[in-house]
Amino acid sequence: MTVVIIGGGVMGASTAWHLAREHGQEVVVLERDNSYALASSALSACAIRQQFSTEINIRVSQASLAFYRNIGQHLATPDDTPDIGLVEPGYLYLAATSQGADNLRAQHALQHSLGVTTALLDPDALRQRYPWMQVDDVHLGSLGVSTATSGEGWFDGYAAMQAFRRAAIEAGATFVEADAAAMITDANRVRGVRAVDGREWLADHVVIAAGAWSARVAAMCGATLPVAARKRDVFAIEANVSLADGPLLIDPSGVWCRPEKTAGQFLCGAPPRNGDPDDVPLSQVDRSLFDEHIWPVLASRIPDFDALRVTSSWAGYYEMNTFDHNGLVGRLTPWTNVYAACGFSGHGLQQAPAVGKGLAELIATGAYQTLDLSPFTIDRIAAGQPLLERNVI
Ligand SMILES: Cc1cc2nc3c(=O)[nH]c(=O)nc-3n(C[C@H](O)[C@H](O)[C@H](O)COP(=O)(O)OP(=O)(O)OC[C@H]3O[C@@H](n4cnc5c(N)ncnc54)[C@H](O)[C@@H]3O)c2cc1C
Repeated sequence: MTVVIIGGGVMGASTAWHLAREHGQEVVVLERDNSYALASSALSACAIRQQFSTEINIRVSQASLAFYRNIGQHLATPDDTPDIGLVEPGYLYLAATSQGADNLRAQHALQHSLGVTTALLDPDALRQRYPWMQVDDVHLGSLGVSTATSGEGWFDGYAAMQAFRRAAIEAGATFVEADAAAMITDANRVRGVRAVDGREWLADHVVIAAGAWSARVAAMCGATLPVAARKRDVFAIEANVSLADGPLLIDPSGVWCRPEKTAGQFLCGAPPRNGDPDDVPLSQVDRSLFDEHIWPVLASRIPDFDALRVTSSWAGYYEMNTFDHNGLVGRLTPWTNVYAACGFSGHGLQQAPAVGKGLAELIATGAYQTLDLSPFTIDRIAAGQPLLERNVI
């Protein structure tokens, strides 16, 4: 059986590795740009958390964290033992209203029922733990604490994607640089994929893992997927401070910030302020977002940040699921042999190990075997039943 995967980012590469390694499938991955210049997997902030409000996102994150902790073993090849530099200082969500604090408490109960160790910290506990943080306006914080089974932090996402790709090739998958342009159809099946340059690959199954471009790929078989390319800016900053063991901070304003490995260096960002249009060119980093919004918020939350400088910035696309901001995984009806893994809306890197594993099971055996990913079913769109996740960043 040949599976053709369109898109060789972290989702396509993880699915390819699981199909080839665990199910012995013949896999061809079509990736239009081997430099991954525009791929989200290469432009991400690469963090992993367990603080979600839905069971499926928590379970997927737990399974993926377990994988990433041991990625050196899972994806070792004769030439490479991958090291993605995973660190786990936790996410710290701050709530500045009583409603926000109630939400954190409700999520805390769900998270603990699933074995996720989050700690609720009142302002005094926050001051004690993070003396450099100003929390006078804060009602409550929720911190993801690392244990043997639970943890939050960040890693090198590009290294993770390349590790999946190398290991998939080692397991027998083929990666071809090709820009998929059309699907060859026959009744309710897709028989193959044709590239812009005319090359064709016959397929028993086709997977759409084209990130922010997944809607365009789905259109090749006449299907509609509500996935849009939404630009997100990231700013690297340098400040003469060392915030030891600093977490990934999620300010109530939506501004996020986390330390880098080198002392005094940080990454930060925020959702756009004035609408969220599709397909804004990645060259257009919005510097005013930093100057007028992110910096004032950070300087008030972390007074030592009153003096800092931006050392670099970049933008990447969230592959935004405009229906409900969660992954779209599974079969793409009415086609009997077309699947998708897209729409992760800012949490695809952390979900790639578990999603790739589940999708490979579905394709190779006809059903999910380990973790049931059916809450991500694409059919929820036609049914008008969104998967509601409160913690979308
Ligand atoms: C600024 C930013 C911060 C983020 N932060 C986080 C985070 O902290 N944690 C987290 O988990 N996630 C985060 N994400 C999201 C995460 O990066 C994505 O969810 C994930 O990388 C998606 O992987 P993918 O393989 O689906 O897409 P991509 O990595 O975009 O890969 C899709 C590939 O498909 C290829 N392609 C498209 N069309 C075609 C075609 N017609 N033919 C052939 N190939 C094609 C593209 O070239 C591309 O390489 C962030 C994203 C951004 C932009």
